[in-house]
Amino acid sequence: MENLRTFHTILHNGLSADSGKIRQGFTGIGIVFVAMKRNVKDLPEVVAIGRKLGADRFMVTNAVPYAEEMSDESLYDCSANDHSVMTVPRIGRDKDLLRELAKCGVADISMDKIGFDGELGRCPFIAGGSAAITWDGGFSPCLPLMHSHSHYYNDRLRFSKRWIVGNLENATLEELWNRPEHLAFRHQVQLFDFSLCTICHGCILNEENEEDCLGNAFPTCGGCLWAQGYVRCP
Ligand code: SF4
Ligand code: SF4
Repeated sequence: MENLRTFHTILHNGLSADSGKIRQGFTGIGIVFVAMKRNVKDLPEVVAIGRKLGADRFMVTNAVPYAEEMSDESLYDCSANDHSVMTVPRIGRDKDLLRELAKCGVADISMDKIGFDGELGRCPFIAGGSAAITWDGGFSPCLPLMHSHSHYYNDRLRFSKRWIVGNLENATLEELWNRPEHLAFRHQVQLFDFSLCTICHGCILNEENEEDCLGNAFPTCGGCLWAQGYVRCP
């Protein structure tokens, strides 16, 4: 919040005219709230404070449960495919979050509909034309593939192995982007031609991103929390 106050002061005290870098109309304040059971009741107050400081964009995301104890803090569950559930982000029937969202009085709450209406999945990084680069120059198509990590989906642990297309030490950004394996992967993600491990849990293949039951090889995206709208950050 202190950063927000500083930004707000800079935005409104005339610095824009001096620096030419911060100008109203070209800048804004957005707040990302990582919703968990322990903090969901704070959401209306965070929105109220944000508004006082000039924020006009609010995004709610689930946390990525990297540790087992964090799994209990999740606000999603397997019932999230019910069309009657509001998904800000995609959540289960967690009444606490819905109640607190209703209190916010936000005029336009956008509901993430990934996984509904026949859409199997949508990757925000691929759809947005993004890539991710590590501190040492590793080039990946997204944040989750930038580093090997484990996360929980409800009580199931999934290991996601890092996938680096190449390194900026040895190739230009354009060369890395245009590598056939990278372009083929982006095309596959756009089609979302993967087994939907987030809603199936039928076999042990969902414990890793190595392969899936449709015959796809590493990296597979069917168990990715971003692609199903559970996690929306950044
Ligand atoms: S679906 Fe997930 S793992 Fe696959 S490219 Fe997108 S963010 Fe990365
Ligand atoms: S790979 Fe296993 S968990 Fe994933 S969709 Fe296929 S059967 Fe289900």
